[in-house]
Amino acid sequence: MARYRGSVCRLCRREGIKLFLKGERCLRDRCAVEKRNYAPGQHGLRGRKGFSKYGIQLREKQKAKRIYGILERQFRGYFKKAEMMKGVTGENLLRFLECRLDNVVYRLGFTQARGMARQFVRHGFFTVNGKRVNIPSYSVKRGDVIDVTEKGKHIEAIKESLKGIERKGILSWLEIDKEKMRGVVNSIPTVEDISLPIQEQLIVEFYSK
Ligand code: SF4
Repeated sequence: MARYRGSVCRLCRREGIKLFLKGERCLRDRCAVEKRNYAPGQHGLRGRKGFSKYGIQLREKQKAKRIYGILERQFRGYFKKAEMMKGVTGENLLRFLECRLDNVVYRLGFTQARGMARQFVRHGFFTVNGKRVNIPSYSVKRGDVIDVTEKGKHIEAIKESLKGIERKGILSWLEIDKEKMRGVVNSIPTVEDISLPIQEQLIVEFYSK
């Protein structure tokens, strides 16, 4: 499957905020946004111009895509599904994104970044309700139990990441048993539970033109 292969720090610099795409490094002063908070490219130093309404909507959509590491086609697919569902489209969209298995693995503290979670899911290091799932976009449901496989339990990066879970904290809709390396989805998240700097209404406006 196609994926972005360039520098992820460039993506944060483009959006002008930290998107936390590199785990621990994002918390240190080596973060590119802290060192060079201007847009990448040869005109970056000229500063960010005021965006048009369209530009603001576009940037919001790009930011959400980049936080979750999703390319345009798949993102648009989520939007279409969200639009067809009952309820508020923007909230449905965020819920689809947040319930992806790779995101849940990251949120449970098994990895330090979503990109790593995606890779580890593909490698088959996780099961959902006892069955191995290697599809990062797999959508979790309330009551799902996510375990690290025997192979995954030997992965140093997973063990290291779990050590920092108390410091990072865990979202209220999830539960983690660190010793068993097991996570549970207690509920489907609300927009408030997701707590990301995304204004989903702007994304809806972008696609509704
Ligand atoms: Fe973004 Fe992390 Fe790179 Fe900072 S270190 S620019 S937060 S990916």
